[in-house]
Amino acid sequence: MPSVKYQTGDMVMGRWPGSNLYYEVKVLDFDAKTQFYTVIYKDGTELELREQDIKNAAGFQTRPRSRSRSRSPGRRRSRSRSPGRPARRSSSRTIATAKTESALSARKEIKMKDTLEVRLSPIRKEPENNSNNKHEKTEENNTANKVIEKSESKAEADTEKSQGRYNLRRRKDDGEAKPAETEPEKPEEEEEAAPAATASTPLDFGGKIGAYLWLLFLPAWVLFVVLQVNLDDPSLVNFPPPLPPLEAFWDAQALGFVLLWILFQVLLYVLPVGKLSEGMPLRSGQRLKYRTNGFFAISASAVAVAAAVHQGLDLTYVYSHFLQLAAASLFISVLLSVYLYVRSRYAAPEHLALGGNSGNVVYDFFKGHELNPRIKDFDLKFFCEMRPGLIGWCLINFAMALAEMKHQGLDAPSYSMILVNLFQLLYVADGLWNEEAILTTMDLMHDGFGFMLAFGDLVWVPFTYTLQAYYLVAHPNPLSLPALAAILTLKLVGFYIFRKSNSEKNNFRRNPSDPTLSHLKTIPTATGKSLLVSGWWGVVRHPNYLGDLMMALAWSLPCGFSHLLPWYYMIYFIILLVHRDSRDMSECRRKYGSVWDEYCRTVPYRIIPRVY
Ligand code: NDP
Repeated sequence: MPSVKYQTGDMVMGRWPGSNLYYEVKVLDFDAKTQFYTVIYKDGTELELREQDIKNAAGFQTRPRSRSRSRSPGRRRSRSRSPGRPARRSSSRTIATAKTESALSARKEIKMKDTLEVRLSPIRKEPENNSNNKHEKTEENNTANKVIEKSESKAEADTEKSQGRYNLRRRKDDGEAKPAETEPEKPEEEEEAAPAATASTPLDFGGKIGAYLWLLFLPAWVLFVVLQVNLDDPSLVNFPPPLPPLEAFWDAQALGFVLLWILFQVLLYVLPVGKLSEGMPLRSGQRLKYRTNGFFAISASAVAVAAAVHQGLDLTYVYSHFLQLAAASLFISVLLSVYLYVRSRYAAPEHLALGGNSGNVVYDFFKGHELNPRIKDFDLKFFCEMRPGLIGWCLINFAMALAEMKHQGLDAPSYSMILVNLFQLLYVADGLWNEEAILTTMDLMHDGFGFMLAFGDLVWVPFTYTLQAYYLVAHPNPLSLPALAAILTLKLVGFYIFRKSNSEKNNFRRNPSDPTLSHLKTIPTATGKSLLVSGWWGVVRHPNYLGDLMMALAWSLPCGFSHLLPWYYMIYFIILLVHRDSRDMSECRRKYGSVWDEYCRTVPYRIIPRVY
């Protein structure tokens, strides 16, 4: 593992962004996550530089290297903006990256605010023949100007941007394509190998001890709820039921069915049907391609299952062998995680995630280390995230509806069962229809693939998200028509908010100049991205979570209030989303600095208007 090359306090030579000039700088800090060093120049300018832009002071020639391909006027001009010049300090600060980690001093905080105010003065070139001019103007006129006070620095900020200096500080999460006029020119060094993950990345999930505990707790929890739901009085507050004998967990046929299901999904995934979508840029700049044919996969699966049932396949086997199926899936997820861990030890550094490299076998096994493990073009993480577990969730729900009919001697499933089935099918089908959107999620972009995700995808989702349907098989809950109508309305309103808000942000992120979004107000940030401050994202800071929670409520209500167990998903989901929201807030504050604070002031509530 590469170690930190330069230490805090070291005097080294730092390359001035956009030029070949090196100046003496002092190392202030190293961010293991982003792999950037914070350095300070003699004139007080602080910048974040990558390791390849820093050289040892010993024997260094301060004369600029001759450069054969001096294409960029920015490069020429940049020399006159060097920190050697006493004046224009504010302009040199314009290219310092906003960074709010507590490790930085209060002095730096003040400096950072200055920086952002200056950098928030973009003079955007009018996009030529672009139907989005209106939107861009709206953005400048409506919101940005409220935030921007130091207008005299506009020209300089623009000049700095046009010089493409930002690329020296490009963070790993700044994946979105920048507008053409700010597209940085790649320095030679950028084409070299991407920084490898270091062992100094902060540990999540309670660190090494936490990883041990999670490894034990997660399978035990699934086992607990699966055993609970079989009881006459299934309650989360019940004492755990006695463990069945070990052989009760094992069923070779159940393992065979799970394997068959996974192989069937593999087959659908590799068929040359559907679109090839590009993932977000990796640290190396490369963009992987993914076959996003999830909707085709669920449709083909539905046809195959219907045909099999028509041919006499008894799907109620899923109900009667739920425990064995869950155990078989757990077994497969453990085997897969072992394989992933072993192969990550041989993976090239640029293919590794920044987390999952603590050196502790258990932690790394749990967290996952290789970012996008692939067998040829077959992406293991993407496949597991989107296919066997998600589509399996719907299959299990359907099996529970058949089991309910058999168990209760019904000709058709109950209203409650129909609602739970349809609601969750809609959720999964929607996710697969918009499958491309997962390429911008944390799981796909940042997390390594290890036990945490493999278990989550193959065991947690299909065997705990199906508990409401499972519960209803033996615990009927008749619904009156008004109750049914109210639950249906709640679900549809939740879905509308969820879909609209997610699409609004996704479309904005994929094309900030989308004319259909031109009415929305935005605040520009120093990274080149803007933040929406009106529309759904002006109501609360996570409108998509609000919609999701409303849907979760609609999934539990059909099960009634007799037991806590069918409410398990709702409770778990509140905790998950509140925690996820706070992680996202910290991450956005780190990325966007005081602009994020401005957004939070404008949109004060996180998930529920006037409540939270
Ligand atoms: P979001 O889709 O909410 O993405 C958060 C990111 O959006 C931020 O990091 C920021 O990224 C960007 N952003 C935040 N505010 C703004 C703004 N005002 N304008 C523009 N961009 C903004 O996060 P998740 O990935 O957590 O959730 C995606 C969906 O998945 C949600 O609907 C959620 O409910 C659902 N979900 C479901 C789970 C389940 O188990 N059922 C589990 C987890 C999530 P940047 O600026 O870098 O683009």
